[in-house]
Amino acid sequence: MTEPLVARMRAFGTTIFAEMSALAVQTGSINLGQGFPDTDGPAAMLDRAVQAIGAGANQYPPGPGVLELRQAVSEHRSAHYGLTYDPVSEVLVTVGATEAVAASVLALCEPGDEVVVFEPYYDSYAASIALAQARLVPVTMRPVEGRFTFDPGELRAAVTPRTRAILVNSPHNPTGTVFTRDELTVIAELCRERDLIAITDEVYEHLTFDGVEHIPIATLPGMRERTVMISSAGKTFSVTGWKTGWVCAPPALVTAVSTVKQFLTFTASAPWQLAVAYGLRHEMEWVKALASGLQDKRDRLMEGLAAAGFSVLRPAGTYFVQTDIRPLGFEDGLELTRRLPELAGVVAIPTQVFYDRPERGRHFVRFAFCKKEEVIDEAVSRLKRLSA
Ligand SMILES: *Cc1c(COP(=O)(O)O)cnc(C)c1O
Repeated sequence: MTEPLVARMRAFGTTIFAEMSALAVQTGSINLGQGFPDTDGPAAMLDRAVQAIGAGANQYPPGPGVLELRQAVSEHRSAHYGLTYDPVSEVLVTVGATEAVAASVLALCEPGDEVVVFEPYYDSYAASIALAQARLVPVTMRPVEGRFTFDPGELRAAVTPRTRAILVNSPHNPTGTVFTRDELTVIAELCRERDLIAITDEVYEHLTFDGVEHIPIATLPGMRERTVMISSAGKTFSVTGWKTGWVCAPPALVTAVSTVKQFLTFTASAPWQLAVAYGLRHEMEWVKALASGLQDKRDRLMEGLAAAGFSVLRPAGTYFVQTDIRPLGFEDGLELTRRLPELAGVVAIPTQVFYDRPERGRHFVRFAFCKKEEVIDEAVSRLKRLSA
């Protein structure tokens, strides 16, 4: 049989995460590759999901999501950011942020439209853009004074008459950058001037460190009306397996995204929605403690990686720390991460896989610190073999 997969998806074979996680299992390595926490979400919120199942929340919820969750999302946006979204016409519940991004791109981009994306980028963006037969236009983030950022001139040059949207992921995976108000202002000016939509991925909105605050671009002047704001419960409450996300946007944009979403999945699972509504209303103190614990873990891993000989960049948010491997005498992150299990019994992710132009990320390797202290400590002590 000839290749059954449609041409536009052929570049998306097996992901590096599958390869590296398999390698971790085969070699008994510590997996600091994939970004999921190894501890549970708030106990009362987990109980709510169990209760919801016991109480019969087991049939299709409304397509746009359970009203209680849409209300809780609306209250949360207002309490944290001063943004008002009507729970009925401006909030849509999705199967995680992943579906929200896919449905947004499919709903808003015609074939041939361009979407500007900051590289390195989360892998699902390119696949969603390819499914829509749109074109991803990358703008590279590079380390400047210890954090990854973009060049405003390069961003401006990336916008053409075919540009439909800019995909803004802040706090940013995989670099850990939290965009500053100045950076967001550059993006917002361009959106207003060229009549672009901002599709935002804010799944790490609460996981920021050192007092750095996450600023949603929708709070900037003239942006609420052109922003599709996306978030999810997975990272906020350490329940990545729940796949419960949401979109907040003006009615016309939400209606467009719902039109596609209803034929992807129709609706998201009911019990998680009720539990997440509870979490947003009652567990934000737990989330604060999570962020502060993650900051300690970040410091622990950064210190260890530096002691092992890596050059380490300090992330202001997310689960991830970026390292430059050149001080250890390595040049290529893909080559190093394939050998790392044998060299040190640790698995990490080569950052180059998140680029359209991998050579730009060749010497960076990403480590996740959303793991128990003892796991981080053991990984660090193993990594010291590299410079021994
Ligand atoms: C984890 C992650 C997602 C996926 O979110 P879900 O709610 O699990 O779909 C999306 N974007 C980024 C940047 C992530 O790190």
